[in-house]
Amino acid sequence: MSDQRIFNFSAGPAVLPEDVLRRAQEALWDIGGAGFGIAECSHRGPEFTAVLEEAEANIRELASIPGDYAILFLQGGASLQFAMAPMNFLSGGKTADYINTGSWSKKAIAEAKLFGNVHVAGSSEDENFSYIPAADAIRNSPDPAYVHFTSNNTIFGTQWRSEPEVPSGVPRFCDASSDIFSRPIDVTKYGLIYAGAQKNLGPAGVTLVIIRQDLVESAPSGLPSMLQYRNHVKNGSCYNTPPVFGIYVVSEVIKWIKGLGGLGAMAEHNRDKAQLIYDVLDDSDFYQPTAHPDSRSHMNVCFRSPAEELDAKFIKEAKAKGLAGLKGHRSVGGMRASIYNAFPREGCEALVSFMKEFERQNR
Ligand SMILES: *Cc1c(COP(=O)(O)O)cnc(C)c1O
Repeated sequence: MSDQRIFNFSAGPAVLPEDVLRRAQEALWDIGGAGFGIAECSHRGPEFTAVLEEAEANIRELASIPGDYAILFLQGGASLQFAMAPMNFLSGGKTADYINTGSWSKKAIAEAKLFGNVHVAGSSEDENFSYIPAADAIRNSPDPAYVHFTSNNTIFGTQWRSEPEVPSGVPRFCDASSDIFSRPIDVTKYGLIYAGAQKNLGPAGVTLVIIRQDLVESAPSGLPSMLQYRNHVKNGSCYNTPPVFGIYVVSEVIKWIKGLGGLGAMAEHNRDKAQLIYDVLDDSDFYQPTAHPDSRSHMNVCFRSPAEELDAKFIKEAKAKGLAGLKGHRSVGGMRASIYNAFPREGCEALVSFMKEFERQNR
């Protein structure tokens, strides 16, 4: 097995901390001296129960999540949450407000429309989602069931600086798939937070859900068991077989973040990494960043060179130098450097020197 790993800018599933990968290798072989691995044990046995309890306790501590919120590990990705949230909270002719900041918001809106009324309270579609709408551009409906937003727009490289304002008493719902635990978060401002793990937290196949208990109680009954939050809360994420290996890795990633100093330190680290790249973009008239300066993401840095042929050349030559996964999403074009929690600073430094060299040779 090669020890050599490249700098992996993949947008997701994305790079994981090396320490965690090493521990996961061992845990697949043997979990705590049990004589079997983490993927091979009963989800109701003591080995996995310990993993699950530790994962929950560490998440609760990391993000200061109060006791009146449940922490769930579900399956189906963020995409299932697009439907589950309105199924549980948008019944009976109610309206929910959605802020449309990109492709993932649009998918969430489309799913919600299957279950109730949707009011689009703000949008940046007029400029291909290159910015986060200003507070005074958001118009809520009179009595929304909730206000949904996407905290980081993975494809367009924009990120909310702070939560959108909501009418008093209305819960915020957030798709935080691509920036969960990349910075401090005040969970008490939310009714529901969900995130597919595969960008910042672990492998694909597990979705972290943080939900306020009183909302859970308010959902109608009669939904399919797997789609009812109440059922998962009641059974502590073990209504059916949970994604045991994924939960193990998430637990290790959370410990890794705690070891770095927690969410404040993580945010500092992420801001510093992103700044290295944005500084080069701002100093250059060769590269063009695609997001407005006040909306720039610390997770996905999107930019273009002067021509599409040069973008293609950039991506190809970067790959040959061990900088992989830099192709932008087709709806934006150009390049996208995804630099989630586990992405190392050295990778950003390597990208920055490559960018400067590429500019010198191709301008
Ligand atoms: C990747 C991503 C999704 C899709 O997640 P799945 O787990 O594949 O369903 C949804 N929202 C955002 C913001 C994403 O980055």
